Amino acid sequence: AKGRAHNQHSLFQWEMQENVTARAKLEGELRSAIEDRSIVPFYQPLIDLKTGSLCGFEALARWRKLDGTFVPPDRFIPVAEETGLITTLFSQLLQTACRDAAAWPEHLTLSFNVSPIQIEDRLLVNRILQIMKDTGFGAPRLEIEITENALMGDPDLAAATLQKLHAAGIQVALDDFGTGYSSLSQLARFQFDKIKIDKSFVSGSVANEKNAKIIGAILSLGRSLNLKTTVEGIEENSQLGYYLGQGCDFGQGYLFGKAMPQEEVPAFIRNRTEI
Ligand code: C2E
Ligand code: CA
Ligand code: CA
Ligand code: CA
Repeated sequence: AKGRAHNQHSLFQWEMQENVTARAKLEGELRSAIEDRSIVPFYQPLIDLKTGSLCGFEALARWRKLDGTFVPPDRFIPVAEETGLITTLFSQLLQTACRDAAAWPEHLTLSFNVSPIQIEDRLLVNRILQIMKDTGFGAPRLEIEITENALMGDPDLAAATLQKLHAAGIQVALDDFGTGYSSLSQLARFQFDKIKIDKSFVSGSVANEKNAKIIGAILSLGRSLNLKTTVEGIEENSQLGYYLGQGCDFGQGYLFGKAMPQEEVPAFIRNRTEI
């Protein structure tokens, strides 16, 4: 029994070591990828559910390896956050996205994710404004998406950042709504223009009556607080019909389109406008 415990212990240590090595490798690769500009924004369409028209795109980071495969953002964004690389990565991606989006038709917006740790960066708003100046992309067309976890650390600093964004004319959305802590108190304390309901509530939710009811309640709460609402992860027509009926403003999901490279955006805009 003693031998077995010993073996398990070694196995555990071995796995830990493996993780540390894999992690160090990923960090090194991430650093080079940022230097080589191998991480670029893709764009996922946002649809006005009432009219069915395209109203903008969310920028989603895509890391393309030399062999053509992609590293998903859920793997490298956390590493970028922990190593501080997120600041450089953010500036690069926002710069590219604003330059791309400045060439889209005037009425289309750009949504961009900001990591929770960036909310406590006092230079964040200045950096955003400088990029908008450099690219000529107008503040009212930009929407910053932040998750509720961003507001937990230093709420006063977070509130000041949101205030500065609003003062500059930039829209702010509360992302992944319902998945973090104390969502409702965040709505009372901070100023948002929009809430985005996370796709975890949506998958199969028309079939899952409880989830559908929760979303219905969030949508009516949003309405009474004068907030716009987006439902994320719409994959089926039945879901589209349901959330439209519940008064949701905007939709995002594979039903309308996955995130695509900039080269594919003009054709998507053309096709979507002809319909
Ligand atoms: P998010 O902000 O909640 O973005 C929505 C995610 O849902 C995206 O995953 C998108 O591809 C996916 N999605 C959209 N519609 C559907 C659908 O109908 N079905 C399914 N199954 N999925 C759908 P993605 O691109 O893998 O990004 C994951 C997360 O990584 C994002 O979640 C966001 O938190 C983070 N992320 C991505 N790009 C950036 C970035 O530039 N900066 C920061 N800070 N975070 C980013
Ligand atoms: Ca988002
Ligand atoms: Ca997220
Ligand atoms: Ca989400």
